[in-house]
Amino acid sequence: MTCVLTIAGSDPTGGAGLQADLQVFRDFGCHGAGVVTALTIQDSVSVHSVLPVFPSVVLDQLRTVLRDIQPDAVKIGMLASDDVVRNVILGLGELPASVPIVIDPVLQASDGKVLLERRAWPTLQGLFARASLITPNLHESEALTGEPAANRRGSEAAARIFLDDFDVKAVLIKGGHRDGAPDDLLASCDAQGEPQLDWLGGERIDLAGGRVHGTGCALSSAIAAGLAHGQELRAAIDVARSFVARGIAEARALGRGASFLGRVKSS
Ligand code: PLP
Repeated sequence: MTCVLTIAGSDPTGGAGLQADLQVFRDFGCHGAGVVTALTIQDSVSVHSVLPVFPSVVLDQLRTVLRDIQPDAVKIGMLASDDVVRNVILGLGELPASVPIVIDPVLQASDGKVLLERRAWPTLQGLFARASLITPNLHESEALTGEPAANRRGSEAAARIFLDDFDVKAVLIKGGHRDGAPDDLLASCDAQGEPQLDWLGGERIDLAGGRVHGTGCALSSAIAAGLAHGQELRAAIDVARSFVARGIAEARALGRGASFLGRVKSS
């Protein structure tokens, strides 16, 4: 049985965070394991408050589960505080280097609520080199690299910073917040260490129900599930992007605010 571990914050609505990640793992035929890094109080309208889990408890969860179960891939989402990031890094010491990690560098919610404190950014950046892929959105890319990513040239400059300064193996800069076509940029280094930049075309999907919550969580979880099944990175990204696009097309509002991804089969 293929197993994916998520290290993420709790979203009681089930639309994002750990609860959403576990649903995606199941959609991809994987067993989902989960280490909680933070509790959030939120509804589909906004995040009301954030309570980081005590850092030593995060470490204890992670060490205990990793000493018993070896996941086939790990997804990292919201980490909330600097101390939590440090303890996640410590806990990952138990994980063999061959196990792929996908990091969604969650910094803030769509409503602006801070989901990772500012002083934790350099600590998180220190973890990037261990990941097979990081998946920032435009805001996160801009915040972490200082390069305005709204136009293509800015995204390409940001991608080079991720590769050169943060030593990431691959970065997918998500274009969902871009004006116009929501193309994503995939950047990685080839065997000669030369940067390879690939624009992955996206189509804007008309949303009857307005904003969709948790698309970033679902994308990184779906990629992690693909890697867990042994797929190549590019294939896992292609399948995950189509899975999320179909989920957006089928999204429905259950509450008064954002819609949740429709449940679609992974293909
Ligand atoms: N809550 C948790 C636990 C999350 O991990 C995230 C995003 O990663 C959010 C809330 C915010 O999601 P959105 O910006 O899609 O509303």
